[in-house]
Amino acid sequence: MIRVGLLPDEHVYSAFVRERMLCGQMHINTRRFFEINGIAYHQMHSQLPLNTDLMGIIRRMGLSPEQVLHTQLEHTTVSLWLLSTPLCGAQYTMPNNMAHAGINLDKRWRFCPQCVAADKALYGVSYWHSAHHLCGAKICPIHDQILHTHDELRILPFTLPHHWSDIAEAMTLQLWDVAWQPFIYRVAQTIKADPLWPNRVKAQIRRYLNCESELPLQQKERKRFDQLARQMTADLGQEYMAELFSSSRPDRSLKTNILWATLSGQVGSAKIRHPLFWLTIIFWLRNELSECQHLI
Ligand SMILES: [Zn+2]
Repeated sequence: MIRVGLLPDEHVYSAFVRERMLCGQMHINTRRFFEINGIAYHQMHSQLPLNTDLMGIIRRMGLSPEQVLHTQLEHTTVSLWLLSTPLCGAQYTMPNNMAHAGINLDKRWRFCPQCVAADKALYGVSYWHSAHHLCGAKICPIHDQILHTHDELRILPFTLPHHWSDIAEAMTLQLWDVAWQPFIYRVAQTIKADPLWPNRVKAQIRRYLNCESELPLQQKERKRFDQLARQMTADLGQEYMAELFSSSRPDRSLKTNILWATLSGQVGSAKIRHPLFWLTIIFWLRNELSECQHLI
């Protein structure tokens, strides 16, 4: 059972780390620590909120079903995944580490130095924030400061942000990141407040791109979608596409058509697609869709 209370916006794994520290179990072998707490041993990733591993920890918190959903929304990055799953999709789990195939996002654990100072002053401890780990987040939404990270934070060791204050470095910003930062935080806030928004915005995208017919779309539509995808790449910039999608790197000959993969219902339709596919389309069309006016 995990007893430590979650702090505002604290990631579930962060509380798990604090629990081990507070219980005086840091001296125990890590595998043994998982074992005595009845949790399958695993490595802690920052952006896989539907993983069976992470759900294993949430289930050890002794919560009601409503509290589980609330905990997922407030203390993991699951909100964006509601774009990818059917309604109330937080109840879905995914096989571990499957979700990031083809996605190039920086998945290192990161922190805001000002949050570290503020959290220590207020709660006596620094902790890992969920919001800092949304897709492509690089600037703290509270302090407007660039987040700091370290290569050894690809997987979370049993440490807290203040342990990294002296050696972590500021993340590198690209030009498109500037517009992405407020966008990604507003999308997450929107979904937390209104879990039906993903369904509405997705319907509006289909209407706007004139593909409301029954899925899967017919193959003859492919040519039109290739044209649309070229337009999307031109509008968002090759740097955006190449930084986020492995198949869009200049050295890759077989490029994934992001629009077709997301909307056609033909490619890998049985799998849950990473929310970055939908987020890219929403980011591209945000000026055109009435459901996105508050995101601009
Ligand atoms: Zn901050």
